Amino acid sequence: TPETRGGGFFGRLFGRGPSEAPVMRRVLDDEMVESLEELLIAADMGVDTSLRVAANMAEGRYGRRVSTREIKELLAAEITRIMEPVAKPLPLYRTTPQVVLVVGVNGSGKTTTIGKLASQFREAGKSVVIAAGDTFRAAAVEQLQIWGDRAGVPVLTAPEGSDPASLAFDAMTKAQADGADLLLIDTAGRLQNRQDLMEELAKIVRVIRKKDPDAPHNTLLVLDATTGQNALQQVEIFRKLADVSGLVMTKLDGTAKGGVLVALADKFGLPIHAIGVGEQIDDLAPFDPEEFAAALTG
Ligand code: GDP
Repeated sequence: TPETRGGGFFGRLFGRGPSEAPVMRRVLDDEMVESLEELLIAADMGVDTSLRVAANMAEGRYGRRVSTREIKELLAAEITRIMEPVAKPLPLYRTTPQVVLVVGVNGSGKTTTIGKLASQFREAGKSVVIAAGDTFRAAAVEQLQIWGDRAGVPVLTAPEGSDPASLAFDAMTKAQADGADLLLIDTAGRLQNRQDLMEELAKIVRVIRKKDPDAPHNTLLVLDATTGQNALQQVEIFRKLADVSGLVMTKLDGTAKGGVLVALADKFGLPIHAIGVGEQIDDLAPFDPEEFAAALTG
């Protein structure tokens, strides 16, 4: 809710309305630390991270009078400190094609992210091939073709219901023959049957390794930032299904739920390669910890 951000966030901490918050001062005591913990938890930072962040902020300041501005600055600094190590663009290797496997639950923004990534790499002068590996979802394949057209990137498809691993193998063959720089492989996001999904992902990896033993070079997990704490669970699940190497956080435009990124960084330390900030092709941005901390603390 908007109350967990901006002036309201700190107004509550200081027991006054948002308009008075910037000038408020109060003694930092146990009660204040507890309120801070509650606010951080409400902002989706997760219990463990919230308690640690609040403790770090309070350290050496007990009994002192602090202002809302100081608290904001301390919090922004704590968040930046946690987020800086994970802010890493997708590493580009000399290997061609660099194979990027993209995983995540349906609706997380996988298709859109692949389209945006393809467009970005295309604009950077890279040749890109997309494999529409979610062969069970006709709508996803169609969407991916639309994104591919927009980005000017070929999209390899296979008949509905056919084996994604065989499509991935064909895509590897084509990407190698064409001398493509990057191959982006979409995958299914059906968590209803995890065993099936795990086998499907494992088979894709197995067959593309026949063509390049180091592939996939990256396994990107796409997470919807608006799902809050569910994002944490999804990391746990997908790390069991695939060798997740990095994250893309989508739907960070206009959400008050960005706090989950702090929990994710604190808990898993996986790189955040990019963030989705809208539905258009250019709405993919590098993750900037300071900007993020400033936005979150209002
Ligand atoms: P998939 O099922 O994981 O492939 O998800 P899609 O790529 O189809 O995205 C699901 C919905 O989320 C679509 O309506 C997208 O337009 C939307 N979406 C994806 N990324 C973003 C984002 O960064 N911001 C916003 N606002 N919407 C997004």
